Amino acid sequence: MRYIEPHAHMVSRVTDDYERMALAGCAVVCEPAFWAGFDRSSVAGFYDYFSQLTEYEPKRAAKHGIQHFSWLGLNSKEAEDVKLAEAVVALIPQFLGRSNVLGIGEIGLNKNSRNELRVLEMQVDLAARHQQLILVHTPHLEDKLKGTRLILDVLKNDPRIEPGRVIIDHVEEHTVAMVLDTGMWAGMTLYPETKCTPARAIDMLETYGRERLWLNSACDWGCSDPLAVPKTALAMQRRGHLATIVDQVIYQNPQCFLRQCKNFKVAD
Ligand SMILES: [Zn+2]
Repeated sequence: MRYIEPHAHMVSRVTDDYERMALAGCAVVCEPAFWAGFDRSSVAGFYDYFSQLTEYEPKRAAKHGIQHFSWLGLNSKEAEDVKLAEAVVALIPQFLGRSNVLGIGEIGLNKNSRNELRVLEMQVDLAARHQQLILVHTPHLEDKLKGTRLILDVLKNDPRIEPGRVIIDHVEEHTVAMVLDTGMWAGMTLYPETKCTPARAIDMLETYGRERLWLNSACDWGCSDPLAVPKTALAMQRRGHLATIVDQVIYQNPQCFLRQCKNFKVAD
């Protein structure tokens, strides 16, 4: 089995996890900028984090034969301080030229607050001005439906944004169709408890098809599993899906989206 892990917060993971992922067939890991386990008190904290994502993590992954790419942005959990957000948005362009950067993400909404929405708009504008791909985090549980609608409105109202260059992550049964209908991509996040279990994700693949969908583990500070993607692939095979179909979902689909960024190339 070979697979791409398109959304994993390796900052929260030990080096042994890279080894386990490599053993399971992981060729590429993509790490969106997110909460670092604590709120950062200054723009310098983000400078150090973006340096880690673009300098240190690629080297740590390479030791296990895994390619590492990253997304840059200010996550919605830390978007209440609009002044800090403005400073972070001003900081990001100096990192966009780095060779492992895929685009702006993960941006989005957490509690659907006014300030989060303002910061989302700022970062969509940043992506548009620099012709970057966008990766979007959608809120949890009861805030997800409303938050997803708000996010899609922001993106649809900006004529500079091409839907096929945006992925909306953490979709569930009640949001996946509305995302796919816009022409954007949808990501299913496999968590042991919340978000999506392997069985629910496979149900959705069987219901909505395999176009413009990917699977990820998001493995972060919460209860999560860095091997969720290969475990779900095995569950697909147990349900009778052919190996070529599984390969499309866990290896080819992420490439299809990510190849739109010139930095993304899978080594032979
Ligand atoms: Zn994430």
